[in-house]
Amino acid sequence: MAASHLQCRECHTEYPLEALYVCERCFGPLEVAYSRPGVELSVAEWRRRIQAGPQNIWRYADFLPAAAPPGPSGRLNSRAGLPAGCTPLIRADRLAARLGLKEVWVKNDAANPTHSFKDRVVSVAATRARELGFETIACASTGNLANSVAAHGAALGMDSYVFIPSDLEEQKVLATGVYGTKLVGVKGNYDDVNRLCTELCAERDWAFVNINLRPYYAEGSKTLAFEIAEQLGWELPDRCVVPVASGSLFTKIAKGFEEWRELGLLEGELPRMNGAQADGCSPVASAFAEGHDICRPVKPSTIAKSLAIGNPADGPYALDLARRTGGSVDAVSDEEIRAGIRLLAETTGVFTETAGGVTTAVLAKLAERGEIDPEERVVLVITGEGLKTLDAVRGSFEMHTIEPTVADFEAGVPEPLTV
Ligand SMILES: *Cc1c(COP(=O)(O)O)cnc(C)c1O
Ligand SMILES: [Zn+2]
Repeated sequence: MAASHLQCRECHTEYPLEALYVCERCFGPLEVAYSRPGVELSVAEWRRRIQAGPQNIWRYADFLPAAAPPGPSGRLNSRAGLPAGCTPLIRADRLAARLGLKEVWVKNDAANPTHSFKDRVVSVAATRARELGFETIACASTGNLANSVAAHGAALGMDSYVFIPSDLEEQKVLATGVYGTKLVGVKGNYDDVNRLCTELCAERDWAFVNINLRPYYAEGSKTLAFEIAEQLGWELPDRCVVPVASGSLFTKIAKGFEEWRELGLLEGELPRMNGAQADGCSPVASAFAEGHDICRPVKPSTIAKSLAIGNPADGPYALDLARRTGGSVDAVSDEEIRAGIRLLAETTGVFTETAGGVTTAVLAKLAERGEIDPEERVVLVITGEGLKTLDAVRGSFEMHTIEPTVADFEAGVPEPLTV
């Protein structure tokens, strides 16, 4: 494994690669540090090594804090769990044209095994949990993490405990319980769930993927950056629009690009990083607008429940990243989120959940404000599947109900648009 130790992000104190997540000295978050024996590889050798790997996130095992599950590359077995990653990057010319842009790409992470980007982070955390000898995985979730932890638990033959706010979308509850996890609906919001889990974490010998395993979990998000760069032909985009809940995904995408720049695998500036939040839970966007370095916690109220974290752990790092790359963190209303879901669906054939509506609506807003140079290559990161938040599109279109006759069809259904 390429990871060498954990390190405090603030005071740089080093810790062993165990189930630790907070610095004993300064309470800063711990992050994984690497010493890569392969740094002497040439750029061409690195590329060949990666391309020879399996068609999932483990092709990037040299950059992850867990060993790739055993087995012939790409072939699945009971130790590999659910293979995440290698999701499509789609050139979205019709979406770009609608927004007055030239080059927009949609990274569709709904194409993961449980239909959200969370399979990337859970794959890494669950694999590391197994390496550390844990028998039970657990999480505090806004919905997609619940799906993923329950499914990975089932795939790996581990027990799982999943804690969610009790008012989550029904589709996400059903798509989690089906895996036979112990599903706990907590009467409160995500921040209450997270507090409860942090207390339980101190008492139980469980691997909470986003608490005591968080340093490993967070690293999984870098694979989104690696894939985007590889799919663009080993090039960086000019701009990425990414949803922000805790801010982990947003900051780790940039870390992925950075690591490959340091190795010489990518050249050029970091992309402008644009974070996307919902008005009903926008602590990071508010701090960005007000010029603050830290986020004031809020009580969430938005249809984008997967992003409803009122007290984002990586908020300050997300703010810093947006500022130093010339990006921003913006927020959009529930109406704009619904319109964003429709815009993406109608122009690309990709049906996203509310989080993707947030991202698409923020891209539309940036384009409208004239902040994007038409020549820029923009990547829109779509993190979850529309079938999980069906209520968001209910009533947004009409069904023509007719008698089974041609006459009724002709009377009741409009002709196709002719251009
Ligand atoms: C979890 C999640 C995110 C981002 O979460 P972070 O906590 O910011 O890493 C984005 N989109 C969806 C659909 C999610 O489930
Ligand atoms: Zn510290």
